[in-house]
Amino acid sequence: RQPIIAIDGPAGAGKSTVARQVAAKLGLLYLDTGAMYRALTWLVLQLGISFDDCTAIAELASLSQIQLVPEVDLESPQRVWINNQEVTQAIRTIEVTSQVSAIAAQPAVRKALVQKQQAFGKEGGLVAEGRDIGTQVFPDADLKIFLTASVQERAKRRQQDFEQGQINISLTQLEKDIAERDKKDSTREVSPLQKAADAIEVQTDGKKVAEVIAEIIDYYHQ
Ligand code: C5P
Repeated sequence: RQPIIAIDGPAGAGKSTVARQVAAKLGLLYLDTGAMYRALTWLVLQLGISFDDCTAIAELASLSQIQLVPEVDLESPQRVWINNQEVTQAIRTIEVTSQVSAIAAQPAVRKALVQKQQAFGKEGGLVAEGRDIGTQVFPDADLKIFLTASVQERAKRRQQDFEQGQINISLTQLEKDIAERDKKDSTREVSPLQKAADAIEVQTDGKKVAEVIAEIIDYYHQ
């Protein structure tokens, strides 16, 4: 079997940047599972389906085609499509970000998306990033990393992302939003955000991205 690396952790811990580059360095595919929950949330909002209509949402989750296409340039995020509509930017809006946890908490949604994620794992080796990769999606992963950082540090990083997009949001507001999303993701009934028993915790406060990547690659070769 091809190698699988699981990278889990709370919002804003730097999972995407780190996972993408670890994948590139090791010649593995990169799977951003958060983008899948975001794309589905975007579609639900777009179609005006009520969040209470779990049956309709579950059906949408299993019937929708989600495509994740990496950019050659490592600095750029992958491109995302759902049912042939490109949603690369649309899934990063504040609206989607604030609603995604509610969609991700629905058991039938998780069942459908986890199945799609496991299918990706059959295509080749990969670095998968999310909240439940080490615990649910790939419990037999060769390496499990739990990436963390303080809420303050994570809010600062998010602020830098927003500034690049020329949006101004206060640090206090970002800290509040991040803490709230963590709480929703960690207290939901199915597959809450949780460190797998055999995961290695990597604290990223004050570390450069390159250091974190090197640390993970070291663990992989150990
Ligand atoms: O990682 P990202 O911030 O893009 O994830 C968006 C949301 O998707 C998370 O806040 C969480 O609610 C959900 N998610 C999840 N399980 C995953 C990945 C993401 O529940 N494996």
